[in-house]
Amino acid sequence: MDGKSIFGKNAYFYDRNSEPQKIERLLNFGIQQLGLGTIFVDDKGKCVYANRLAFSMFHSDESLVGLHGSFMDWMRKLGIDPTAATWCRIFEHNGKERLYKVRNRQLIDDVGKALGRLYTIQNLSEMVDNGTGDQYRLTHDELTHLYNRQGFNEATKKLLSTTDKVYLLLYSNIKDFKLFNQLFGLEKGNDILLNIGEILAQRVKEEDVYARINGDHFALCMPKEHFDEKQFKKAVKEITGKVTSNAYSIHMQIGIYEIKDPTMDVTLMCDRAYMACKSIKRDGICEIAWYSDEMLVNALLEKEILSSFDFAIINRQFGIYLQPQVYADGRVYGAEALARWMHPENGLIQPGVFIDVLERADLIYKLDRYIWELAAMQLYQWKGTERGNISISVNVSPKDIYYLDINKEFGNLIRKYDIDPGLLDIEITETAVTSDVNKCAKLILELQKSGFRVEIDDFGSGYSSLNMLKDINADVLKIDMGFLRKTENQKRALVILNYTIDMAHELGMKVVTEGVETKDQLDYLVEMGCELFQGFYFDKPMPVSDFEAKYKGGKI
Ligand code: C2E
Ligand code: MG
Ligand code: MG
Repeated sequence: MDGKSIFGKNAYFYDRNSEPQKIERLLNFGIQQLGLGTIFVDDKGKCVYANRLAFSMFHSDESLVGLHGSFMDWMRKLGIDPTAATWCRIFEHNGKERLYKVRNRQLIDDVGKALGRLYTIQNLSEMVDNGTGDQYRLTHDELTHLYNRQGFNEATKKLLSTTDKVYLLLYSNIKDFKLFNQLFGLEKGNDILLNIGEILAQRVKEEDVYARINGDHFALCMPKEHFDEKQFKKAVKEITGKVTSNAYSIHMQIGIYEIKDPTMDVTLMCDRAYMACKSIKRDGICEIAWYSDEMLVNALLEKEILSSFDFAIINRQFGIYLQPQVYADGRVYGAEALARWMHPENGLIQPGVFIDVLERADLIYKLDRYIWELAAMQLYQWKGTERGNISISVNVSPKDIYYLDINKEFGNLIRKYDIDPGLLDIEITETAVTSDVNKCAKLILELQKSGFRVEIDDFGSGYSSLNMLKDINADVLKIDMGFLRKTENQKRALVILNYTIDMAHELGMKVVTEGVETKDQLDYLVEMGCELFQGFYFDKPMPVSDFEAKYKGGKI
């Protein structure tokens, strides 16, 4: 018999003139010397080979069936999935702590047929004995037994120092996982994390490093050449599918950083991938975003905004610009107070830059309170003058409703500045209202009882605009022209606009159209019966002094 027929064409470097039995003996001897417990299981799941070390590690009798059975039992007891690629576990045996690392490879022949599995088991118990078991605990996550942040950092650093390939760092987040824990309990949450950890361990390749960094965040460092976005999404969907039930579904967000400088601190790489992750706004089962330097600039800006915000409030760096709300003939009716940050170094900063950041950081209520007070002070200053009947409207962020007693806040301002509540209008965005219709309906009623006028801001920008109106009894509907601009079906959009204006009137609301930019728009809005306008066609938001210079008298 020639050697080829036993070993196949994968065994390249053997002497074809030697007897196959001799080669077999040599290979066997070699495997005994490797210092790794070795177990081969064939494609039918039958154990066909094990070296002596494997026997001594699992204290089995001399039969392969017995060894295989106790090995599988051992894995089961420790909660190890027999298909997982690598596992490291501390366990107790005869009152002593042991540490084994298991590697599991599926063996596939040249034509892709599964031949079986090879398990190698490394005995690292010495690490435990000489005190480095603590080292294991330092670098591994207790729940999933994957690397933790420190283990990931060390392993990734080592990996990147030994390769020329381009690597990617992937960082995942489970959307609303905190909420999931609250709804279903920590134990269920842990189950999900364990499941994800196990499936991850099965899927990765040998050269990949992966970890649970903390909470619901997993990280993976893999060669770029192995990453196929479509395949990856499919795999993630399979993973989430396995842990999804009727009651909930898991939405994975994944940020990817392409490692340009392998010597960079791994924590920074993770930060960048996480930055990409946080930029995801869409809500699919698996959403992926790649890091770009622009994100870093935004994140730095966000940090800067948050760190200087309190100082800016105390030092009165925030002010208001006023944008007139006018009748069709240009006579002023009121003005909207819009926040501006007069930054000592960076100049005038628009709300588009800081409102979102403050909302995300749950700080917006501080700014809003301040802006409301500025508006109240302005009304106080106009009191008894020719501008005494110009109203000012202020914005209420959706989050204010949860952080502040809005009616009380405005009531206090009215008393403090002794002003007419009918002149301080309160804008609540449509999205705030739809987020909690009952709460908002109650609030709006209270505010109206206190004499305030309530406006629904940005009407038409959300999805359930009309539905909301049956429960909400506001005084003014502010329709945003922006939502008309986005459409190609201008004609149909105009029909909707026309009916919206009619409907608002039927429901006893005034209509302000925002974002009017052209004479043409003004003309058809007048034709449709809209009575009030706010937009660049008339004026942009301006400093209070400019507003005062231009608009003397108030409404009739
Ligand atoms: P908003 O409340 O809908 O305010 C109207 C925004 O539309 C203003 O932008 C205004 O400059 C802009 N605008 C007005 N007319 C036109 C026009 O004809 N064309 C175009 N393209 N835009 C027009 P601004 O001042 O940048 O404010 C943006 C948003 O920031 C506001 O939208 C509001 O949601 C928020 N915001 C501003 N100040 C505050 C505040 O004090 N508190 C809170 N919570 N949000 C604020
Ligand atoms: Mg507004
Ligand atoms: Mg608006």
